[in-house]
Amino acid sequence: MFGDHPHEECGVFGIYAPGEDVARLTFFGLYALQHRGQESAGIAVSDGKKVNAHKQMGLVSQAFDEQSLEPLKGHIGIGHTRYSTTGSSLIANAQPYTMESYLGPLALAHNGNLTNATDLRTMVLKRGVGLTSTSDSEVATMVLLGGEGPNWGDRIDHFMNCAEGAYCLTILTKDALYAVRDPLGLRPLCLGKLGDSGWVVASESCALSTIGADWVRDIEPGEAIMIDGDGPHTIARHPAPRSALCLFEYIYFARPDSMLQNQLIHSVRMELGRELARESSVNADVVMGVPDSAIPAAIGYAQESRLPYTEGLIKNRYIGRTFIQPDDRIRKQGVKLKFNPLTSTLAGKRVILVDDSIVRGNTSGPIVRLLREAGAAEVHVRVSSPPIRHPCFMGVDMATYPELIAHRMDVPEIQDYIQADSLAYLSYEGLLRATGRDPNSFCGACFTGKYPIPNFNPKARDEIKLVFEES
Ligand code: AMP
Repeated sequence: MFGDHPHEECGVFGIYAPGEDVARLTFFGLYALQHRGQESAGIAVSDGKKVNAHKQMGLVSQAFDEQSLEPLKGHIGIGHTRYSTTGSSLIANAQPYTMESYLGPLALAHNGNLTNATDLRTMVLKRGVGLTSTSDSEVATMVLLGGEGPNWGDRIDHFMNCAEGAYCLTILTKDALYAVRDPLGLRPLCLGKLGDSGWVVASESCALSTIGADWVRDIEPGEAIMIDGDGPHTIARHPAPRSALCLFEYIYFARPDSMLQNQLIHSVRMELGRELARESSVNADVVMGVPDSAIPAAIGYAQESRLPYTEGLIKNRYIGRTFIQPDDRIRKQGVKLKFNPLTSTLAGKRVILVDDSIVRGNTSGPIVRLLREAGAAEVHVRVSSPPIRHPCFMGVDMATYPELIAHRMDVPEIQDYIQADSLAYLSYEGLLRATGRDPNSFCGACFTGKYPIPNFNPKARDEIKLVFEES
């Protein structure tokens, strides 16, 4: 049985800024990270004596208003936006987790999936500690609380010794902010500076820009930092032989205006498009991208192939990502709810349609159909990532083999299924080339099946089920 772990595609944020309205800044930071999770949002703030928190289901704009921000007074804050799969869509899984502990109050926000969550759950439960949710973030909180050592630094160190897989944490205590990134650096986390004495950490640098903070650096893989009145200091290092930043962050997940490893995501995506054009050119009249995530790759493709780039689909931006819809039927309908074709730019044209990825295969077919109905003479689909053949257990919502179309079908079959005139994917080598970085510094497990976690067997995953659920 494949896992029923909630998949923590999330955004985390943290701020230490005396004299600032940290709750409001966190609110805006979370707004910038909304694309990383639309299911629930939460903020916890400390004034040096006590911690106040508010979390709610829904978008950041739905979870917060003046009334809910008002009590969140203090100079340290953390925030979280969460997306998860069906079944675990509960307020019990919303973050930050807040706990009273022997060392004082603690609030924790987590992005990523722990690959040894089942073992850690057992360890925590054996100690007699109860759990209220299926979330491995709650387990992470309990491992931290039950850790050894007289201070939070020691407990974070202990947690890093126990945990495997993907975790970016922002942790708030009464008087400090902590930021922790797993040794493989699977998910992104960066540090920024706000004014003279403020510090910010966020999943993506777009959240820093939004609140007027300057990007300083990425938190290193395996690094834990503490931020207090003396600024940030590294308190733990757990280096791994290699890092393994998720390639899907480059392809789809991160916002194009974010910097990852000193590179602007938008530039990398344009390069993915150029590589794709070099690898699989085809005679056509226009190039267009599936809005919004494939636009930079489509521009790169058009530049490289010297074909005109055009808009062919208008997206209704108020309908969320189609994959956010919980079941397949609504997901399929979602494509039509979301896009309208621009008939005048498509009529009689041989179109190259660039998309960033095909995951379950529900989107491409209806879009190809839409373009044909709008008069396109030919539709050639080009995908700016390789086929996704293996599930992700490190935090992206593609967690089982059967749901992945490229696991069930080869490329000609998929071309047939989506009724494209031709279909080509970017090669894995092309993807790595486009990043311009050390090929051994990434996780590409969803493409290659090579998981960066030692002794990890994706087929031996346990299912976590709560025996009771509250609604
Ligand atoms: P589909 O092939 O129907 O699953 O839709 C794939 C499209 O949804 C991609 O082009 C992406 O833009 C977007 N997407 C990105 N991540 C995911 C994900 N984890 N699950 C499903 N769709 C995703």
